[in-house]
Amino acid sequence: MKLDPKALRYLSKDDFRTLVAVEMGMKNHELVPVSLICTIASLKYGGTKKSIQTLHKFKLLFHDGRNYDGYKLTYLGYDFLALKTLVSRGVCSYVGNQIGVGKESDIYIVANDDNHEMVLKLHRLGRVSFKTIKNNRDYLRHRKSASWLYLSRLAALKEFAYMKALYENGFPVPTPIDYNRHCIVMSRARGYPLTQIVQLRHPSKVYSDLMNLIVKLASYGLIHGDFNEFNILINDEEEITLIDFPQMVSTSHLNAEMYFDRDVTCIRVFFEKRFDFIGERWPKFKDCQNIHSLDVEISASGFTRDMEKEFQDLSKQQDDEEEEFNNSSDDDDDDDEEDDDNENEDDDENNVDNDNEIKNSSKQEKHVKKEVEKVE
Ligand code: ADP
Ligand code: MG
Repeated sequence: MKLDPKALRYLSKDDFRTLVAVEMGMKNHELVPVSLICTIASLKYGGTKKSIQTLHKFKLLFHDGRNYDGYKLTYLGYDFLALKTLVSRGVCSYVGNQIGVGKESDIYIVANDDNHEMVLKLHRLGRVSFKTIKNNRDYLRHRKSASWLYLSRLAALKEFAYMKALYENGFPVPTPIDYNRHCIVMSRARGYPLTQIVQLRHPSKVYSDLMNLIVKLASYGLIHGDFNEFNILINDEEEITLIDFPQMVSTSHLNAEMYFDRDVTCIRVFFEKRFDFIGERWPKFKDCQNIHSLDVEISASGFTRDMEKEFQDLSKQQDDEEEEFNNSSDDDDDDDEEDDDNENEDDDENNVDNDNEIKNSSKQEKHVKKEVEKVE
């Protein structure tokens, strides 16, 4: 189903409350047991089960009913939660064409009631849900375990915080407008990605603008980390807009020089290949001075140093797990045996945790109420 905010109208208040309940249950569960969804949503007269069916029909929830009666949010379900919030805040009312799809994001044009166009970026970290292929009953025992929900939310928060700080300090980036969960809304930059440009009128000027931008970022203690022809937009006046910030690194990072050089080299190589332009001068990391700090602005947006560390750790963990999974698909049989051995242990743990969760349910109920009120 297409990402369509009109479909939001078909969802009742109860459906929405149930969707929020599943989101909350996913803090501890890969698949949230129906009993827990009912407890958290606490709707009268079996209303939650009816809503679960509706949400499942609309593909907002995923159900792997073979062995275990649990549900989880689909990307679409999570998109709807975020969109509903953005729509109710008056940020946007229409979703238009998809203009980009990357490994880790989807990009749409959106508009508000005044037909003002903006860009919506939905983060999709961990899009390849390799874990669920094997385990249909994936209880997240280690709370640190990376869920795509959490990672995508951190990525959006990081991107919004950096975009806002850069924008406020006069960098050529889109205007950050709002964010919720894994989505950010920003102004639509005029122009096209550099990768689509065949010819420049002033390659030398654009080249030095780009190198100056790398140096200016470093003077604020930052390296873009993915400074390439896909993340640089250029308009008819050959002015640049820089986008895509979740991978930004600090100039105090252990491998800062490597990231810096990689960004510089990307531009040099691209200009030579595409425009036959050989830049004679380019910046060196050791010559850059860090004279400003954006720490205060970035943490003011809610993205703290601790979150940065957690984001780095989780992303790395995710990459490692993916690699491990890809390397180990040959010895699946052995793993299955191990899983069987652990079945009973898991049951005990689940029971204890379910009890605790039901005890905590009145707290959760209040939280759900607050979430629902926020978007009404
Ligand atoms: P990804 O993380 O998937 O690389 P990007 O933020 O780089 O996502 O966006 C992907 C593409 O979407 C870009 O190459 C560009 O074409 C388009 N895009 C993203 N943001 C904007 C924007 N603010 N204005 C115009 N186009 C944009
Ligand atoms: Mg990009």
